[in-house]
Parts: sequence; structure tokens; C-alpha cells
Amino acid sequence: MFSTLFIFLSNFSGCHDNQYSNCMNLSKLFENGSHHSDRNNGTGKKVFLKKKIFNILYLEGKKTIADLCIPAGVSIPTMTRIMQELMDEGWVIELGTGKSRGGRRPVYFGLNPEARFIVGIDITRKYTRINIFNLENHPLSKTVQKDIGLIDAQGFLDALKIEINDLITKHGIDRQKILGAGISLPGLIDKKTNISYSYPGLGERSLDQIFGDLLEIPVYIEHDTKTMALGESWFGLAKNRSDVLCLNVGVGIGLGMIIKGELYQGYSGFSGEFGHIQMVPDGELCECGKIGCLETVASGSSIVTRARLKIEEGTNSIIKKAVEGVTEKIKLSDIISAAKQGDQFAIELLEEAGAYLARGMAVLIHLLNPEMIIIGGDMAQAGNLLADPIQQKLNKYTINRIRQDTAIHISELGEEAVLLGTIPVVMTTIFSQEPNINNHNN
Ligand SMILES: [Zn+2]
Repeated sequence: MFSTLFIFLSNFSGCHDNQYSNCMNLSKLFENGSHHSDRNNGTGKKVFLKKKIFNILYLEGKKTIADLCIPAGVSIPTMTRIMQELMDEGWVIELGTGKSRGGRRPVYFGLNPEARFIVGIDITRKYTRINIFNLENHPLSKTVQKDIGLIDAQGFLDALKIEINDLITKHGIDRQKILGAGISLPGLIDKKTNISYSYPGLGERSLDQIFGDLLEIPVYIEHDTKTMALGESWFGLAKNRSDVLCLNVGVGIGLGMIIKGELYQGYSGFSGEFGHIQMVPDGELCECGKIGCLETVASGSSIVTRARLKIEEGTNSIIKKAVEGVTEKIKLSDIISAAKQGDQFAIELLEEAGAYLARGMAVLIHLLNPEMIIIGGDMAQAGNLLADPIQQKLNKYTINRIRQDTAIHISELGEEAVLLGTIPVVMTTIFSQEPNINNHNN
């Protein structure tokens, strides 16, 4: 199912030492469940087998005892004994029988979806989305969205703690059963120190320490666009594909790269700052302090600024009516909605942004030869009104032979990609830290 996952994030450094961000150790989990009398006679092998079974059932779904024997390299009687223990310990459940191939009908086994849980937290500048997922990656309830964000860092941390604790209590979950919280954050995050350079209000400690101490569960931190790329890779259009680029076009413009099935981090984790390549040499000042960045001409916030200015100067558009003449009220959604109703001005704004995006994407296509580029983020709501001008300009800016291998798609997951991506942020890190289970052929 997730064939490329075993090699994901082999050098992922989402964990730093402190009381709660100590990475979840599967060995400890399975040792705790093993009988003490076994401690000196093969417990190590048993723990290894249990980890491997957990890994296979989580990533590939239900299996029969015979299915599991081959990758685990053990006999049917041994596997039957181990599975019985895993059932006694609450990890595994029976899932009915399959079709008979001549003898007895084979029994399927799968993970008990409620054996452990993952908390997903998508933090943005202005709001935060939260949910809890079971081991089938299903959310326990409707996603909670709160107007708390990084603009007010300290108030945000206090509010976040309350929200997470409320959600855990509401679902009656034992904290010991939480494998970890996957946390997606915007801005520059140094992967070596795990310090945020964009939100100094969070303090100078590593993000693991800040959120680990706050939430008192293991935490796994990732940049928002990289989290989106992982979400697309596990659950979206990038599933089972090895070379995919994900563009996050919203307030800013970020790039998440899946290269040879792995999330690409770069030397310090700063890869993918696509929005800050210069597009207009004598252009406007960008938030980053540089001039004429792609973000100043193609991000959602840049076209909102342009819409306000042009309408104040007298440009005719139904956007003006939608906000009753108060231009400060114009939001990206008003522009997209107007474009969908055929408003010429709104369509031109999207076309212009698309043309600049295409200029940047042409560089990516020539450089990396991706099989797919997925456009996500708030601007993706524009659908073909954005994708068509991009495709048109790509025809102009790229070498035909290279471009024809790259499919351009609008994300089907939309904003869910980031929240869903927090699941692989947790699970790939846990699996990558268990050297014995990452290769089925071991
Ligand atoms: Zn910039």
C-alpha cells in the first residue's frame, strides 16, 4: 500500500531530548507487554517480531498468519503464538475470514484501531486545526478549528494546551495510548536545532521542548508545506508516486518535495522556500526583506492587496459589491468566488498570479523532472481558473520533452492535506527510529 514509506525520512531529525519529546520507542511498548519470565529467553526476538508485525499491519492493512510468516521469517506455529500474545495485549484483533483456497478459510488479523492514537495539530498564523486519529488513520470526530494562531505566541500556547486537553478528555483517551502529536508549523524551522526563526514569540528553546513540555505527550514537528507533501504522499494524489512536488499557495508560497519517495529536507531543513526566489527585480518589498519575491506577485495575499488597490482606483468588479464597497474587507475567497462568476477583473488577477507561478514552476520542472506537481493551499480553491493559465504559460516557458512528463494537478485533499500529513510526521519518524523493522526483507 505505502510501498515507498519504508525509506521515508531516513535522516529525519524530528526528535530532541527532553522529558516528553523523547521519541516513542516501539521496543519499550512491546517489551512492557511481554511476560517477564521470557526476559532471558528470546524476548529481544519477540519484541523485534511484534514491532515488525505492527509495522506491516499498520502500513499494509489486514493479513493472515501465513501472509505474515514470509516477511517476518518465522514458522506458522511461532507466528500463531506471537499473534495470540498481541491479541491478549490489545494490539491485534481478528477481522473475519477470507475465501478458502481448498482448506480451511483463512482468518484475517489487523491492528486494533483503538490500541493507540495520534494527535494531529495544524498551526497557522491565525488559526489552528486539531483532530485525533486512530491506527486506521481515521479521525475520531469532526476537525476542531479555533481562531488561535502564532500571531500571539504566548496566548496561543496557553489556549492550545486547553484545546488539546479538552479533546483528549472528550474522547476518554488514556494519555499513555497516544503515540505522539504531529505538529505542523509555518515559517523557518532549523532541522538541526528545531528552533523556529519566524516566530520568536515562541522563545529560544527547541520546538520539541516547547510543545513537549506544554502537551506532555511525545511531539513531532514539521514545517507546514512539508507536512502537506507528506499528506499528499500518504493520502492524496502523490500516493504511490516517487517524484512529486507540492506547492502550497496561500498567504505565502512554499514547496514540499518528495524525491525518490522521500521528503527532501535540505542541509538545515530550509529547503522549499520557493516563494522567495526573485521574480520582479524592481518589484515590491517582500515580508522576508528582499525585493520582488514570487510571493509579492503570486501569493493569495498579494492578489488581495492588488484587488484592493485597483478597486480603490476605480476598476469595475463584482468584488466591490460583495464587500459593500469596503475594500479592506476583500478576502481571497471573494476574488475566487467573483472569478467563478465570470468577473473579468478577478479572472485576470488569477491569470497574472498563474503566469508568475508558471515561471517559477518551469525552473522546478527543468531542474527536477517531477512526475507531478500538486497545487494546494488557499489559492487551489480557484481550480482551473488557476491551473489553466499555469498550464498555458508552462507550454511557453518549458522544453516540451521535459514538460510532457509532468502532470499538473490541483490538490484533491485541499486544506486536509496538512492535518492528515501530521500522521506520517509521527509514524514515519517512529518507524525510521526502529532500524530493524524498516526493511521487510531483513
Ligand atoms: Zn521574500
